[in-house]
Formats: sequence, structure tokens, C-alpha cells
Amino acid sequence: MRTHLLAAAALLFASVSTTALADTLVRNANGIQVGSRGKLERFTGILIGDDGKVKRLLHGEMLKLGDNTKVVDAEGRTLLPGLIDAHGHVMALGFGALQLDLTGTISIADLQQRLKAYAAANPDVKWILGRGWNQELWADKRFPTAADLDAVVSDRPVWLGRVDGHASVGNSAALKATGITAQTKAPAGGRIENGLFVDAATELVESKIPVPDAAAYDAALAKAQELMLATGLTAAADMGTSPADWAAMNRVGQAGTLRVRILSYAGGIPAMRAINGSKPSEWLYGARLHQGGVKLYADGALGSRGAWLKAAYHDKPDTRGLSLISDTELANQTSEAAANGYQLAIHAIGDAANAQVITAFERLNQRFKGDRRWRLEHAQVLDVADLPRLARAGIIASMQPTHQTSDRTMAEARLGPQRLGGAYAWQTLARSGAALAFGSDFPVESPNPFPGLAAAVSRQDVNGQPPGGWRPQERVSFEQALAGFTRGAAYAGFAEDRIGSLEPGKYADFILVDRDISRVAPIELAKTQVIETWVAGAKMWSRDAKGGSAERGR
Ligand SMILES: [Zn+2]
Repeated sequence: MRTHLLAAAALLFASVSTTALADTLVRNANGIQVGSRGKLERFTGILIGDDGKVKRLLHGEMLKLGDNTKVVDAEGRTLLPGLIDAHGHVMALGFGALQLDLTGTISIADLQQRLKAYAAANPDVKWILGRGWNQELWADKRFPTAADLDAVVSDRPVWLGRVDGHASVGNSAALKATGITAQTKAPAGGRIENGLFVDAATELVESKIPVPDAAAYDAALAKAQELMLATGLTAAADMGTSPADWAAMNRVGQAGTLRVRILSYAGGIPAMRAINGSKPSEWLYGARLHQGGVKLYADGALGSRGAWLKAAYHDKPDTRGLSLISDTELANQTSEAAANGYQLAIHAIGDAANAQVITAFERLNQRFKGDRRWRLEHAQVLDVADLPRLARAGIIASMQPTHQTSDRTMAEARLGPQRLGGAYAWQTLARSGAALAFGSDFPVESPNPFPGLAAAVSRQDVNGQPPGGWRPQERVSFEQALAGFTRGAAYAGFAEDRIGSLEPGKYADFILVDRDISRVAPIELAKTQVIETWVAGAKMWSRDAKGGSAERGR
């Protein structure tokens, strides 16, 4: 099968090379990008070679065109390098979009209403899966229970995840189907209460939910790509790729329908071993798929009090949250991955977890020399004393600006006023010399990078709240923000020689948007609409092409 495809590809290339190569000229653009020194650069067009790579950038000059050059008029629109999400969950985005969406529910009654409607609309779905609820948005802030779900659906299992993925609630049919009883004990690092499962306890149910088949994976990946392209993302780091995810990405890659670039991080050491064995993958399918790293977890999330703190929670003094891995186990796992040439990307939210992971990286630096770019995922709440350790150890802070705007009141409640100095400390980290990479953690937040860019420069949400910005000293400049979603995210994925900026030899991944994002207020920046999304010099998505036009599939 593989050999046949390769043979067919070779024939295709042979026939192409006998005809004159056609360049593409994108002209009349308001091009904006961040240069290698962090300054804004402007340009008016791009000449793209037949290989999908940038030949040159134009600055208003006229070009003598070859007969075969295809000319695209950008009509003065703003053109940006394709945006890159440094931390997302590609398959979860796609599966989530096909499941019951509970984001923005305003009450348990609202959740029940949506569940009822979904169940009626999907009578053949054997397990009703959904996610996105957040009890913090509800007046009574009460967690949902099995009984709440039973009241609406009792004939088949229902399993609904919290917005951060760190807690889920099941109905009685789900508990029955997975053998959970009142006697079932939560594992270490988890908790069970009235059908609500927190952190490690969710595995008790999730390990028994029937796995989706290959067709379901492919449909989810197609959906995820569509959502990414529509919001201007041409690439994303996939933080925790499972063997089944990897298989789907390769099926789609071999079928020629991988339309975005996925920088994959294996979901743990067993996934790393299962996927590529002892070394990272090649860059596959025209640099659209690469696995160069491993994702590990040090703790949970702040909302469910799973983040591991150095001192007790301000709003629950009997807990410091949960550590998910011992120092010894972390050392063992990071050593194995590093020795095999993998990058490490480790989730750390609480200050204790961040300190643990930074220490683990510092120890790796003593053994593994060279350009390793260890990644601290989220780097959300750090002890101020730990902030300078990132730059010193060459650790990348992979952060999500929209987490700050979504979480700020919850973070204040969880941490109290004394521990906010090292929370979402983008500018302090940048000034200390740490490299920043920005993302959304989709589907935890929307994949749309524009609210993220706006939050990064303003510390305000899409409604402009709070006035003046939350802890505004941690705002970054527009250039830093755009770099975080382009150059910085590419650097964090060892991909800066291929993507992240439009320069000769790099892929012509770019987007056209409806406003000059360098000149609008943050609240307008957040509302930016993507008009077209191009990957490797080919139009992959267009707002005008409503559903299924030919150019969308290429
Ligand atoms: Zn994540």
C-alpha cells in the first residue's frame, strides 16, 4: 500500500517537472510579520515557488513575471504568516465539535436542556459524550451529579467533561456500564462524588468507554482541520498524541487530506514507545506531520483544585492540590525521552508543580547538552522566586493568553492576593529572557487565536474586562504577542526553519484577514475574521467558499 503510494507520487513529480514550473504571486497585500529581531516588518506581496515555499517578499516593487505565474490580488487586505497554536489538542477539538457542546451553559437546568435536545437529535449514539460545562459560571457553583443527568437521560450512558478536562460527570447508566458502584474507591490523585469524577478518577470510566472506530477518528480530524483553518491556524502543537490519534493523522496524511501542520507530542512514555519507538519521526507529508516530543503531566488544573501548590488553597485550606508524578518517576521518564532525542513538554499549573518540573529540566541539562528547548506547558502559577530559572535553563514558557482572561477571578479565589505575582507572568518571563510560545489549549478554550492575541496585549477579555487589564504590567507588546503565535510557537516546535515567518525557503503558510491587526484596539483585534487561509502556497480555506467547494479539499 505504502509502496504503491510512493510510486504514484514519484510518477506525479516526474510529470510535473517536464512542464514549466508555475510560481504564484500574491500582490497588493498589507503584509505584516515579526522579524528575526522582534520588530514589525511590512511587505506588499509574496512570490511563491512551485514547491509551496516563499521565493521572495515584495516591498512595492514591480516584478517581471513568467508566463506561467499565477497572480492573486489580495485587494489590499492584511496578510499575516499562518498562525500557530503552541498548545492544543487536535483530536479532542474534532471529537468535541462532533459531541454535545456544553460550553457557556448558564446553569444545571441549561445543561439538562442541551443534553435532552442532543439525545433526541442523536438516537443512534450509544454513549452520549459531551464537554465544556463550568460550574464556576453557574449561580450556585454546584458541581453536577449523576442524578442531574438521570433526570434527562437514563436509557443510555452519558459522560460529560468539565471545560478544563480535569473532571467529568456520568449518569447512572454510565456508572453501571463501567462497573462503578458506591464501593468503588478513587485512585491516588483522584476523587469521586455523586457521579462526579476528578482528575485520575476519570480514567475509571474513560478506560471503559468503547473506542471510536477509524472512520470516527477521520471525521473528527477533518472537523478539527476545518475549525483550525477557519480561525487562521495553519499549524498546531498537538499536546498528547495517542497511538490511535497518530494512526489517524497518518491515514489522513497518506490520503492527501492533511491540510494543516501538526507538531505532535506523544501522550506519555508508553505512547512515545508505541508510536515511533526510540526516536522522533521524520517530517512527513510535506512537513505537515512530525512527532518530536513527549507530553507529560505534573499536576491538574486550578479550577478543580487539582493544581499542585506550595501552600494551601486560599479558598480550601485543607488541600494543596494533587501531584501526579513523583520526582523519581519524573526523572526516569524525562531521561528516557531525552536519551531518545525527544523534546519534553510538561504540563505544570501550580507553583509546586512548576518548581518540580523546572528542577527536572535543570537536572536534564546536566546530562543532555545541546539545543533541547524543554517546554513548560502553561507555566501558569509560579513562585516569583522560580521565574528567573526558566531563562537560565533554556526553558520555553508555553502559555495561553485566554486562560488568563477566563481564569482571573477563579485564580484570585484559589490563590488569594499574595500569590498572584507569578501568575500568568508573561512580561516578567519575557524580560527575564525566557522564550514565549502562545496557544489556546483548544478545546479548553476556543482555537481562535485572535482573542488570544488581544488578551496578550491587553490582559482584558473580549468584552474589554477588566478596565485597564488584569495585572496590566504583564501585558506584552503587539510584536511579542504576534511572535508568540508565529515565530515563538515555531521555535518551540523546532520548526522555525520551516514555518513561523514568511521568508525565502520557508513554507508559504499565510492568512488574509479583514483588518489591520497592528492598528486596531484590542477589542477589535479579538473580532478579527479570517478571509482566506493558505498552506504551502495553496488556498486551503476561504470564507467565501460556503461548504465543500473544490478548493477547500486541496
Ligand atoms: Zn492542554
